[in-house]
Amino acid sequence: MSRQIDAVIFDLDDTLLDWSQPSENWTDFTRPMVDNVYDYLRTQGYALPGRDAFFQQLSNQIDQVWAEAKKSWAGAQFGDALQRTFANCGLPVEDLDLDEILRVYDWQPMEGVEPFPEAIPVLEALRARGYKLGLITNSFFPMWMRDIELDAYRMRHYFDARITSGDTGYMKPHPAIYQRALNLLHTEPQRAVFVGDRPENDIAGANETGLISVLMSPPHLNRDLKGVVPHYTIQSLNELLPILEQLG
Ligand SMILES: [Mg+2]
Repeated sequence: MSRQIDAVIFDLDDTLLDWSQPSENWTDFTRPMVDNVYDYLRTQGYALPGRDAFFQQLSNQIDQVWAEAKKSWAGAQFGDALQRTFANCGLPVEDLDLDEILRVYDWQPMEGVEPFPEAIPVLEALRARGYKLGLITNSFFPMWMRDIELDAYRMRHYFDARITSGDTGYMKPHPAIYQRALNLLHTEPQRAVFVGDRPENDIAGANETGLISVLMSPPHLNRDLKGVVPHYTIQSLNELLPILEQLG
């Protein structure tokens, strides 16, 4: 007999991964990676402004690509911010191999960020129960970069489909990104549950697209719902299994 729910789709950050105790701030964390790009360009013989100016320029462009994308829930891309920075530094953007530069950036998991203790047991249990599993993250990185983290946490193999907003061209809450994941999972909105921590992105979009929404609300987040109403709210991923049993 076919079951009503056949897929569970997760947000990544603050839903499966616990960002409550990052080991450093974002600037300190990303600076060595930006320096990798800087050193690479210098080695290629390009003239650049000072390191601090280059870092500041990229930070400004990152803020700008996110601000522009949020106007229409388009998928901001880190590559765009890099290319705008290169252009502003007078570099020949068309000659630069963006994929290689993204590899040179050498994105890594941040120390102190780990899966919630319940994440892997719950993913394991969902697989054992036969659910298809998906991941949708509002990340401006391509999925292969976030996969570096999923591999470090030994989580990647649980997912039948994984997408970032950067790759998809839309971010949550735009229905197109949910529909993309549903298509990859060969299912329909009414047969899928979405679990995420941001009411205005994760939950609003899941509701609009017709999925069953579950707000992940661990004590350290305490987010303002801003009028968004999730179908269910959980404080720990453990609470997901009884909800799925109830949905039958
Ligand atoms: Mg999140």
